[in-house]
Formats: sequence, structure tokens, C-alpha cells
Amino acid sequence: MTTGSSTGTREQNHGMKIVVAQISEGDGLSFHHLYPDGEPDLLAGDGHVIGRPEVLLQAARADEKVELRGSLTAVVGFECDRCLKPLSVLVEQSFELLYVPPLKAGDEKELGEDDLSIGFYQGESIDVDDLVREQIELALPMARLCSEGCRGLCPARI
Ligand SMILES: [Zn+2]
Repeated sequence: MTTGSSTGTREQNHGMKIVVAQISEGDGLSFHHLYPDGEPDLLAGDGHVIGRPEVLLQAARADEKVELRGSLTAVVGFECDRCLKPLSVLVEQSFELLYVPPLKAGDEKELGEDDLSIGFYQGESIDVDDLVREQIELALPMARLCSEGCRGLCPARI
């Protein structure tokens, strides 16, 4: 098994995924991915990626449960909410996430075991692009302003 290289699979424009069955129950899986310039696309309102985001992950699996620990580095560009000046922030997020398949009735009691955030994966793989989008969203400031005291656009210039 090779580690330290990109071990995800890319399915025709469905983004970067980790196939759960490919995570060894003993050794786990190391995942490193450097995105192409400007990818992945962010949700509307979250700005856009500048340059090449990098994701490092260590995956561990116990049966259907997958634990992901890792970090993400990205630069995100957006506009000041008030004056529309272009801004960018460096996002450096570390995360610990637990992924489980969609809940079946009666499974709820097994969750909430610790402080890991719990996510759900659909089908047989975990969507790394979604994870990256979520982490970027979490890292961005609520108020996207160029400065605390931004006065916004001068009405005369609109
Ligand atoms: Zn501003």
C-alpha cells in the first residue's frame, strides 16, 4: 500500500472521494491532495478558492465507522459585505470527524460517544470536496468586512 500520495479516486466531475472499503481496518489510509487551481467550487456566498488548497488526512476505519483527522490549507477570496472591496483570508483548519453511513432506525443511541463531529456518507465513499467546503465555511468569519469600521459604498458612487 502506498501512502503519502493521492489515494482518492476521481469520478467524472463528482469530485474527490475516499472509498470507505479502501481504508484498511488495520493501517488506515493516508490521504494527501493538492487541488487544481481554484478548486473545489464553493457554495454561493462563501467566496471562491484562490490558488491550490491542500488537504492532509489520516483515515481510520472500524467496520462502517470512519474517523478522519487532518488539516486543510486554502486561501479564500470574497468581497467586503459593505464596500465590495476584494479580500482574501488564509484558512488553516484542523479537524476530527467521524463518518457513519446514514442512520438506520434505532441506531441513534450509538452516536454522541465523544466530541468528534459526526457526518454521514452516502453510498460507499466520503466526499472530500464536501468536507473541504464545510471546513472552509466554518473557518470564514461571519461578518465579511474589510475592516470593523467599513463605511460601505459612498451612496453618490452607486
Ligand atoms: Zn469594506
